[in-house]
Amino acid sequence: MTTKTVDVLLVGAGAMSTTLGVMLKELDPSLKICMVERLEEVAKESTDCMNNAGTGHAAYCELNYTPEAADGTINCSKAYAINASFEVSLQFWSYLVRKGALPEPSNFINPVPHQSFVWGEKNVNFLRKRYEALSKHHQFDVMEYTEDPDVIREWMPLVMEGRKEGEKIAATRVRYGSDVNFGSLARNMVNYLDQTEDFDLMLNHDVIDFYQNKDDSWSVSMKNRATKESLSVNSKFVFLGAGGGALPLLQKTDIPEGKGYGGFPVSGQWLVCKKQEIVERHESKVYGCAPIGAPPMSVPHLDTRVIDGKKALLFGPFAGFTTKFLKNGSMMDMFGSLKPNNLKPMLYVGATSMDLTKYLISEVMQTHGSRVMSLSNFFPVAQEEDWEISHAGQRVQIIKKDETGKGKLEFGTEVITSSDGTLAALLGASPGASTSVSAMISIVERCFSDKLENEGWKEKLVSMIPSYGQNLTEDAQLLKQVRSDTLSTLGLDPESAETPAKAG
Ligand SMILES: Cc1cc2nc3c(=O)[nH]c(=O)nc-3n(C[C@H](O)[C@H](O)[C@H](O)COP(=O)(O)OP(=O)(O)OC[C@H]3O[C@@H](n4cnc5c(N)ncnc54)[C@H](O)[C@@H]3O)c2cc1C
Repeated sequence: MTTKTVDVLLVGAGAMSTTLGVMLKELDPSLKICMVERLEEVAKESTDCMNNAGTGHAAYCELNYTPEAADGTINCSKAYAINASFEVSLQFWSYLVRKGALPEPSNFINPVPHQSFVWGEKNVNFLRKRYEALSKHHQFDVMEYTEDPDVIREWMPLVMEGRKEGEKIAATRVRYGSDVNFGSLARNMVNYLDQTEDFDLMLNHDVIDFYQNKDDSWSVSMKNRATKESLSVNSKFVFLGAGGGALPLLQKTDIPEGKGYGGFPVSGQWLVCKKQEIVERHESKVYGCAPIGAPPMSVPHLDTRVIDGKKALLFGPFAGFTTKFLKNGSMMDMFGSLKPNNLKPMLYVGATSMDLTKYLISEVMQTHGSRVMSLSNFFPVAQEEDWEISHAGQRVQIIKKDETGKGKLEFGTEVITSSDGTLAALLGASPGASTSVSAMISIVERCFSDKLENEGWKEKLVSMIPSYGQNLTEDAQLLKQVRSDTLSTLGLDPESAETPAKAG
């Protein structure tokens, strides 16, 4: 069996591993890094552009990030955190663009206004309260709100076309929202890594097993999927950035921190518009309210996408259920992940998530016609023949023991690290690739704390991410400064970030 030795082994070539790879190379160019990917190309799972919604999640339009409490108040804390986290991603990408490590930003990020649209008294009241709460804060002070149909028609013409008059509707808008082609971003990051010394990309290799050596390093066995040749890579540090495939791999490492986790896969589909004249008339991401029982990431939205310089229009996602953990995975994935230590939480969640189960069944039963009916809430004159179905990526939601030892389903992402800092894994998929930079910083902090404190890594992080170590939610001046810098570096309509909030 062939064996080689590296400092860092990155499993998977999606948004997470590529971000960590570039970050570590910037922090220490002498690191020997190996990236192993089971598919023949980089970023072909969830990170590929048509497998996700490409929303630069900044909590401008996603209503599920601001839940309404029982007393009617709006809880903004998650929105502040996600917004700040996206600002961190924008800073890192800006740094890489300025350095020439990433190409012209329009290759991977484009300005697309982020808008929310709701109908019905209850939802309008919610959106108004959400706007009033958020726009008081410096992170959201340029958000606009309106209940005026003429203004909404100007903001989102397709949404108003053929809509019945007199309906109670409302919308918010943040003009400097973005559409991100995470697939292009990841591939460009790998192109950059490829130009550095001591970076090795192994495509078409399946990581199979792990063994921790006496010196704490890991021997990771893998198989070439074409030649069936087995090989082993010895690494001081391993990152499981395998997307839906991270949970089974984490279980194989046998680290105590990985025990008790299970995964619940949710697949997705889009309606994609086939008529370019319709596509050209929409210029925003319009998010609505989630149907009852829908997982938070299944909020429907009518989405302008910019893919390889061309505009596209998508509606969805429609959720579905398969037992695969990866789009290119196996139907046995979920069954293989059942272990004595996660059976109880898995069964408990299965038995108690009736709203989710009902929602998934109703989604799976949908016909093309019923999907276009859902679309007509956002585009009343939509015609079935103008839209076709496209399959999105898989999301594996985390199931873990709750405080009572039963089980709970989580919709966020979670970074798991071994106590000795030699291994890290990322589970879950939301808010996803938008917050990849913060997630990878947390790995650096937890697994390379010594280098951070004593080898100048902290200062290097500040040079890449000027707000590193500071709080963008508390420091209005700092936010203004970094936002103005990133929006102009990335070509994201910086002037629109200067206008104060207004309600129409
Ligand atoms: C429908 C949908 C909509 C989404 N919308 C958004 C959005 O609007 N904004 C946003 O920020 N995020 C969104 N996301 C989430 C985002 O796509 C993911 O969080 C992100 O792409 C995950 O990146 P990753 O690198 O962890 O995983 P992936 O991109 O899945 O990459 C993991 C890689 O690991 C490889 N791999 C797996 N197992 C092995 C193994 N054993 N050996 C070797 N390689 C392996 C896989 O082949 C894959 O290439 C969405 C996701 C979905 C599914």
